[in-house]
Amino acid sequence: MNYQGKHCIVVGLGESGFSAAKWLAAQGARVTVCDTRSTPPNLEQLHSAHSQIELRLGEFSETTFTDADALIVSPGVPLATPAIAAAIARGVPALGDVELFAQAIAGSKAKVIAITGSNGKSTVTSMVGAMCSAAGLNTVMAGNIGLPVLDALSQHPDAEVFVLELSSFQLETTSSLNAHAAAVLNISEDHLDRYKNLAHYAATKASIFAGTGVMVLNREDAFCREMSLPDRQVVWFGADTPKTAEYGLSGEDFTLSYGDEALMSAANLPVAGLHNAVNALSAIALCRAIGVATAPMLAALKSFTGLAHRVEFVATVNGVSYYDDSKGTNVGATEAALKGMTRPVVLIAGGDGKGQDFRPLKTACERICRAVILIGRDASILAEALNEAQSQFVDFDNEQLLPILQLPNMEMAVQFASNFAESGDVVLLSPACASVDMYRNYHHRAEVFIAAVKGLES
Ligand code: ADP
Repeated sequence: MNYQGKHCIVVGLGESGFSAAKWLAAQGARVTVCDTRSTPPNLEQLHSAHSQIELRLGEFSETTFTDADALIVSPGVPLATPAIAAAIARGVPALGDVELFAQAIAGSKAKVIAITGSNGKSTVTSMVGAMCSAAGLNTVMAGNIGLPVLDALSQHPDAEVFVLELSSFQLETTSSLNAHAAAVLNISEDHLDRYKNLAHYAATKASIFAGTGVMVLNREDAFCREMSLPDRQVVWFGADTPKTAEYGLSGEDFTLSYGDEALMSAANLPVAGLHNAVNALSAIALCRAIGVATAPMLAALKSFTGLAHRVEFVATVNGVSYYDDSKGTNVGATEAALKGMTRPVVLIAGGDGKGQDFRPLKTACERICRAVILIGRDASILAEALNEAQSQFVDFDNEQLLPILQLPNMEMAVQFASNFAESGDVVLLSPACASVDMYRNYHHRAEVFIAAVKGLES
């Protein structure tokens, strides 16, 4: 699409909105940026380096978008926002920065690998990035993982592979990305405050498969099983033993395998937990789909030590090990973290629950938790879900009720967790919730947790 002379209104001046505004201005578009905040991020940089870009700050009104030829909507802004929905109803196209990227890269020699799912996106994106780099390909990771895709494109014109982490919000405004290989890793409850139901959320994720590329899908996930499309190459992965031409884990040592081809033992992955072995399988499937050789790929996996705030070891205090899984922002992630634990756990959870049903956490908690400590806005919803589960399923004659405590802040949560925990136990921060009710973001939540743990040491 040619944006020369078109009036493009960028909605939201976060990182991706800022990159889209710069990109469109460079294409010769007339660019306006709107943001409901009076001092959005990137304001200074926009003023100083891009004075030709018009700004409209404050609440959107009926007239905010009347003169737009196209809206470029940031992922954090719902398309259902009334002023935006009205513009769309008038026929104004609403797209995102990933769509601009897709239009710009169409026909180029660079390969695109795209990754979505409820959990594991950043981990798999980083694995794939490391594996492609190890194979000598000029590789750039971008999208939801951090670097906006349009910045990636302008800063790395010689990239041979773009590895894109895409959220469902980004996919809502993307229609023509034709990735060479794309994966939906899994679907579990998340963001139901923005989708009608899980099927609607899953359908948004499935739109990553627009085009003709290889589809990489989780055969153990009911939603993923429904996504395979006719006339397309589909590669399946899962934690179970693989059939021919599928990826899976074989034998007692969970060997990463492709059919009966043994690739490596899961014990040689520095990242812990079965879910990470499955993440590695999906990463291998994606890399092989663009022809990456096996040896450098496996070498990269053997030195991939994982990302910060994903079940990351913090410290041992009085024999108790503290782990930071602040990025565990939904039930599926916290379940995976608990499943990976072999010692009794005091779990710290809670925050903004995004409308999730927390009851599936019950089984994982009852298996391994000594106590659950809840903080944040939706602590009582979580407590209710876990309590409900207990009263239905715990055998009162033989088992003690799992202690569930609600506390007002992280400092107290860590203090009480240290009291509950016995030497050899684990204290795990894995909130199953977003952080925004109490913290700036999940990094900030982790910082407060780590500071509280360090406070125990003194
Ligand atoms: P995303 O980018 O999708 O949020 P991350 O790789 O950042 O995924 O991990 C987020 C959370 O999900 C962490 O708590 C991590 O331990 C957990 N996780 C990672 N991979 C999986 C998986 N395959 N299934 C379930 N949970 C996972």
